[in-house]
Amino acid sequence: MRIAAALLGLLGLATALAGIRMGGDEPAASAALPAGLLPGEVLERAEFALIDARYAPPDAEIIESAGLATFTTNGKWADSALPVPVRYVFATDPRDLTGFGSLLWAMRRWEAVGGQKLRLAYTGAFATGPTVTCTDRDRDGFHTVSFNRLSGHLLGTTCVFFAVSPGTQVRRILEFDMELTTEVPWSVSDTTDPGTFDLPTVMLHEMGHAIGLGHSPMAGSVMQEALSPGTQFRVPSADDQEGLQSLYADATAKPVTPIAVPPAAYSKRRLPALAHE
Ligand SMILES: [Zn+2]
Repeated sequence: MRIAAALLGLLGLATALAGIRMGGDEPAASAALPAGLLPGEVLERAEFALIDARYAPPDAEIIESAGLATFTTNGKWADSALPVPVRYVFATDPRDLTGFGSLLWAMRRWEAVGGQKLRLAYTGAFATGPTVTCTDRDRDGFHTVSFNRLSGHLLGTTCVFFAVSPGTQVRRILEFDMELTTEVPWSVSDTTDPGTFDLPTVMLHEMGHAIGLGHSPMAGSVMQEALSPGTQFRVPSADDQEGLQSLYADATAKPVTPIAVPPAAYSKRRLPALAHE
């Protein structure tokens, strides 16, 4: 059954293709290959966003039907790039390191999807954050998560760079940078009060982009492109899981146990060793 709903929508910055904005970035023939590219590959970039559903266009649809594969994928990390090293910018975190706890939780939650081998590793902190604008300038070789002042009712945004082999159209992810907005009241509580947004849900959604998932129109999926205040999507739906398994299928992968509860506040005393810039 399909129902029209205001829950899903596209922002001005996104195109009609599930919120993805792609931009070819072919270097001049005489220029040196950008870092990470193999001969014949070209660099592409995409910027994804999760928006406040109250500002989503009213003509979008969600699909409420089991058994339909509605996930989209936009690229994947090569086996040799796993585990993907993730850095965090502590200086931008909302009070009490709520962002860091939610980030660790979200990383583990995707890893815990069965039958697949994607793995992520927290590898340290940056004292100050880069400005992520999805330009070549910001492709610094680090995969960075930070908070910033986002515009346009964005809750979070993730910029992903790909190496694309024109013959196969395979998109090999080279780098991602993720930003969460500082402009909404965040919640990490078990129940999300109306008027606040569930930070674990947004972290999980944006991390989904970082590992190669696109938007899904399936009701209840983490990868829906808009989120209403007071709601949570903390468990990857069957559709989300199928998307991840389609990218990283491995029936022999060792199971990963999710962190049961997103930490409300990550104690500074328990912080992993910092690797400041
Ligand atoms: Zn998104």
